Amino acid sequence: MTTIREDIVNQGHGYLSPVYFAVHSTANPGATARNHRDLWSRNYDYAVHLVSDWTDAYHCVPYNRLCWQVGNGNATCEGLEICEATNAADFAKGIQIAAEVVAQRLKAHGWSVDRMHPHQWFSRTYGGSDHTDPMPYFTRYGYSWDKFVNLVKQKLNGDDMAISKDDLYNIAMSVWTFAPKGSSNKQPYGNPYETLKRVTRGGGHAYATKNSKTGKTGGIWWLTPTLERHGFGTWAEWEAFCKANDMATSNYTILTETESNNLVQFLSRAAKE
Ligand SMILES: [Zn+2]
Repeated sequence: MTTIREDIVNQGHGYLSPVYFAVHSTANPGATARNHRDLWSRNYDYAVHLVSDWTDAYHCVPYNRLCWQVGNGNATCEGLEICEATNAADFAKGIQIAAEVVAQRLKAHGWSVDRMHPHQWFSRTYGGSDHTDPMPYFTRYGYSWDKFVNLVKQKLNGDDMAISKDDLYNIAMSVWTFAPKGSSNKQPYGNPYETLKRVTRGGGHAYATKNSKTGKTGGIWWLTPTLERHGFGTWAEWEAFCKANDMATSNYTILTETESNNLVQFLSRAAKE
């Protein structure tokens, strides 16, 4: 998950109460978010609220301050500048970060993706600008606006399956640590598992799964990469969570190491889909 760095360096040009979110790309390949943050800190007229690259995201102008970013539509929008990468790997990383930043901001406003538009849309809708970004940048890497919209949607729903190896390990660990103490309800867990639902809460993820052999559903909980379990420290809390999400705690059992490895393999496959 991308953390937006709070680093206000520019006050924009007056009050803003946005109704849209504008997505740009910088048209300055190789220049980083930090480079833009530094430029904007020097009383630069065309600073935008947020900027992100392939490693970082900065919040540089207060969200209630007007930015000169899309021409005549300036008073309608908050915005993000996506820094332009010089290779496909950085492009891919940068798109993930940009989508997370936009999702966080849409969520903060209570907006869905229909409030998000490219600079190109603002140019055509309001005039006063002929910029078409970020389309040329996306096209250069075989990417599209529709794909970006879908990615932001996924981030908003918390159902993207990008899981690191460390996370997978922690999911497996949590299977052991959250099994009810002294439970004799041990099932022959085998592949394949089917993920019924993924819920994101407080920086962690819960997976509701179904064992296709037994037809039984179960829950797996993982919170942070360091195995902190705030929010679900007790069995009662876990039960309440399961109840709220239609997951049956009675089918949640202790796994052996082999069974848990099978589960990790399943999640690994799911992560690649
Ligand atoms: Zn632009």
